[in-house]
This record gives sequence, C-alpha cells and structure tokens, in this order.
Amino acid sequence: MVGGGSNLLLSDSGPQGTLVAVASARHGVLEISGSTALIDAAGDWNATAFELAGQGLAGAESLVGIPGSVGGAIVQNIGAYGHEISEVVKRVRVLSVEDGQTMWLDAHDCQFGYRDSRFKSSDRGQFVVLEAQLVLTEGGLHRPAYAELADELASRNNSPAPEGYELQAVHQAVIALRSAKNMVWQDSDTSTWGAGSFFVNPIVSGKDHERLTKELSSAMPAWPQLEGRVKLSAGWLVEAAGFHRGHSWETVALADGHALGLVNRSGKATTAEVLEAANQIASAVTALTGLRLLAEPILMGFEPDLAVAFDAHIEP
Ligand SMILES: Cc1cc2nc3c(=O)[nH]c(=O)nc-3n(C[C@H](O)[C@H](O)[C@H](O)COP(=O)(O)OP(=O)(O)OC[C@H]3O[C@@H](n4cnc5c(N)ncnc54)[C@H](O)[C@@H]3O)c2cc1C
Repeated sequence: MVGGGSNLLLSDSGPQGTLVAVASARHGVLEISGSTALIDAAGDWNATAFELAGQGLAGAESLVGIPGSVGGAIVQNIGAYGHEISEVVKRVRVLSVEDGQTMWLDAHDCQFGYRDSRFKSSDRGQFVVLEAQLVLTEGGLHRPAYAELADELASRNNSPAPEGYELQAVHQAVIALRSAKNMVWQDSDTSTWGAGSFFVNPIVSGKDHERLTKELSSAMPAWPQLEGRVKLSAGWLVEAAGFHRGHSWETVALADGHALGLVNRSGKATTAEVLEAANQIASAVTALTGLRLLAEPILMGFEPDLAVAFDAHIEP
C-alpha cells in the first residue's frame, strides 16, 4: 500500500507483487461537529492540517509541513515539535485486508508509539486506513511544547506570549524552522529528496544514558521518558560519530540543515547507494555508542533477511 510514498525506500529492482495506491473521491476534512473532525485517509496530510486550523481547530498545527497522506500520517504516528498525531486521534476507520470488513478502532487499539502504530509494525499490510476522527480544541491557541519552536515564536512575536500563539503564526514558524533543515519537500530542491529523518531517535535505559553522557559529553541532548528511559537525539549521535550535516558521498548526501536527512542530492542515486551511506552511518554510531539505530522509512522490495547495519521495517 502506498499513500504519498514519502516514507518508503524502494529497492532498485522494485517491490515484489502489486502496489496499491490508496485513493478516494473525497479529500480533507469530511465533517466537523464541535471539536470533532472526520478526515479522509487518502487526502494530503499537510493540506488537511491547514484546513483544520482554518476551521479554528487547534491541535495539529505543529505537524504542518510533513509530506504524505493522512493514512500515512496515522500509520507512522507522525510527530514534530513535541507533538504526535496520536494526541488528537479518537478513532480510526479501517478496512481489513483479510475479509474486506470495515471497522472503527479506538486510538488505544491502534497501539500508537513513537513514530509507530500497529499499522506500521505488528499488523503492517493488514488494514487499509480509510478515515480518522480527531478531537481538537475549538478556537484554541498553541502553547509550544518544544524549546526551539517556543524561541522561534517568541522572536517573531518580539516577546513570549504565555497565553499561546495564533495557529497561523505557528504554521509560519514551523515551516520556517523545517525549511532551514531541508525538511519541507520541494520538487526543485534535491536537498529535500529523502524520506525525512532516516533514523529514529533511540530510547535507551537510564543506565545507558548515564554511560553515554560520561563517554561522549554532558551536553548530549536527552529527553526523559516513562519508566526511567531516556530519548536521545539520533542526529546528534550521527554527528558525534563523524557524519556532519552536508557530508557528501558520490550521489547521496546528508542535508545541509539536518544530519538525519539522507538525501538523493545528485537526483541520480540508486537505493543501493543510499543503503551503503546509511550502513556507514549506523556502523559508526554503533562503534561509538554500542547502540543500534532503527530506520524510520519502510524498506520495500527487499528480502526479510537483508543484511544492514541498522534495524528496519522490511517488506518484499
Ligand atoms: C521532507 C520530509 C520530511 C518529513 N518529516 C517528517 C516529520 O517531521 N515527522 C514524521 O513523523 N515524518 C516525517 N516524514 C516522513 C513521512 O512524511 C511520514 O511518515 C508520512 O506520514 C508518510 O505518509 P505517506 O502517505 O507518504 O506514506 P507512504 O510512504 O506512502 O507509506 C508509509 C507506510 O504507510 C502505509 N500506508 C500509507 N497509506 C496507508 C493507508 N491509507 N492505509 C494503510 N497503510 C498505509 C504504507 O503501506 C507504508 O507501509 C518526512 C518525510 C519527508 C520526505
């Protein structure tokens, strides 16, 4: 199944079997009742997020600028600037591939995790996401949860706004920050031709966090998680392992603004070349930290036993 294709790395020989593009005659926001919105899965996520804000509904504004479909956004539980789509998902309507039945799954049953859901992991390919019902905040302002966005908004506003920011101001700030990191897809700009971040941020035990802080730097970025676990910055680790923003191979490069943006800068790279670069990066991070990175995009058209230096969701 393919939505917008923005989170797929296709093998050079192409996927085996039939690719099904998820499409619909209706797009965007299908229905609004108070703070609840029904959105179509085949529609473009970015356009839908703008449409929701245009209806005065807050909750999805920090997720603008992420390419792909609404269905893909649910599958990946897209996240940016301290928020994830799962925070506003009430339930998801799916079609079971096995028996063709449609059903609603409550958010809890979607098993959303960090850049993950049952549709991406345990039940990949088993359900077509058709629609999602979101619960947002009517007339809400945005209170930034993430320091980088808070600083950008305060500087654009000439001072912090403790009561929150208008959604349009948040959109402008998010798009500016993302653009500076080559994280807004542009057909004309090969430094955005990737799948966003190639690796997800590793979540490690408190013990590993302590060890790495001692071994690497006390300035290593880290965000506390549940049960004493700690999320690290994959981008920071990649740079610490010697692969800096702008690092270039023959046809592939790291984006100038983001060490996790593995891009087809030449416009001519093969998938084998992308994988070779990803392997070099992941091996260097493992040698430095003992951690094994997890790829964010889905590797499609590969044998399940594909030998790579990182963990990945692989399908034929
Ligand atoms: C420049 C750039 C920036 C990005 N920034 C971010 C970011 O900030 N945060 C983030 O989380 N991601 C980011 N991404 C990754 C990507 O945009 C998201 O994962 C997006 O949600 C993928 O949607 P898609 O429709 O393109 O999915 P696809 O790539 O088409 O598919 C991804 C997976 O979802 C499945 N799928 C797609 N649609 C459906 C459906 N309707 N039902 C069932 N399964 C389906 C596919 O089979 C596949 O397994 C970025 C990507 C790029 C290129």
